[in-house]
Amino acid sequence: MEVVPLERLKRSFRSSQKVIEKEISSLVNKLNDICASPEIDQQALKDLAGRLKLLKAKLAELRKEEQESIRITKVRLDYLNSLVKITNVDSDEYVRWSTIRLNTMLVDYLSRHGLNESATKLSKDCMIEDLVDLELFKQAQKIQDSLARHSCTEALQWCNENKSSLKKIKSPLEFNLRLQEYIELVREGKIPTAIQYVRKYLTPWSDLYLKEIQQAMGLLAFNSTTKCSNYRQLYDQKRWNFLINSFQMDNFTLNNLTKQPMLNLTLQAGLTALKTHSCYQSDGKNINCPVCSSESFGKLAPMLPYSHHVNSSLVCRLSGKIMDESNPPLVLPNGYVYSAMALKEMQERDGYIICPRSGATYTLMDTRKAFIS
Ligand SMILES: [Zn+2]
Repeated sequence: MEVVPLERLKRSFRSSQKVIEKEISSLVNKLNDICASPEIDQQALKDLAGRLKLLKAKLAELRKEEQESIRITKVRLDYLNSLVKITNVDSDEYVRWSTIRLNTMLVDYLSRHGLNESATKLSKDCMIEDLVDLELFKQAQKIQDSLARHSCTEALQWCNENKSSLKKIKSPLEFNLRLQEYIELVREGKIPTAIQYVRKYLTPWSDLYLKEIQQAMGLLAFNSTTKCSNYRQLYDQKRWNFLINSFQMDNFTLNNLTKQPMLNLTLQAGLTALKTHSCYQSDGKNINCPVCSSESFGKLAPMLPYSHHVNSSLVCRLSGKIMDESNPPLVLPNGYVYSAMALKEMQERDGYIICPRSGATYTLMDTRKAFIS
């Protein structure tokens, strides 16, 4: 999240560089022409001065953008740096720091799920506008909405603005958008226009996507009710969801953002420290284990690695408390183990012990102490 303004800074730097190179070389050419002519052309000089003024204004605008990116980068660095000065995790400073961190993650999560109004409100209320990337997600949402309305125009414009970066990451997004526009023309039966479209927008990609282009040409022979799977796939409206997803992924890559929300990643980092081989098993579930609660946190954990426990601790299935010297494990005659405290409590309450796994009834007298080596 911290690097978004830096990426923006790089982009505006590159575009100022381009503007300067292009304008200066054309101005120098003009100036040479003026000098070469035997008489001074007053009008040409005036035009030249006008263009220089325009260039200056454009550069001033870009400079403003750059300065804003620098300011935000500085705010984010200062925030990160303030952690170094905090020595105690129980201090009020740390609580404040981590609350801000949590709120930025929540704003990131809300923005990624299209809940921009809530994200804006939360960032305003917590005064963390400079630490979050609301604008970036708002613009992305506009493009996603237009794709959901089955229009590629805004997404193609975005591709054009980021052409060189997308080329660098070898993104197939622009090609797929062009392919979609072609498919829509064929769907509407506008065959001559579709063929012209292929010539203009798809053939330049033939080095990279020849097979796809050939298949796209085959589409001309099939209508949208075809049962032939290759062509049915091209007509499938689900392709729009695929385009939305590809755009999102490219947008994250270009801005150095993680593919998953930071909130998920942070929670997963915690969950993987807790995940054991008995998690998710119906008879190994621990009521206090977040990984085991399959309705909430457990949903984030199936793909995570198991934690490496050098020392294992025994947790009582009945009470969820750790079994140790002060609360030793007791073995029932059926072999199941529970903590002494939980069994005593049950005996005192009910007069006997019921094993929650087998339903067998015992008393404390039947139990044996277990020794762990
Ligand atoms: Zn578990």
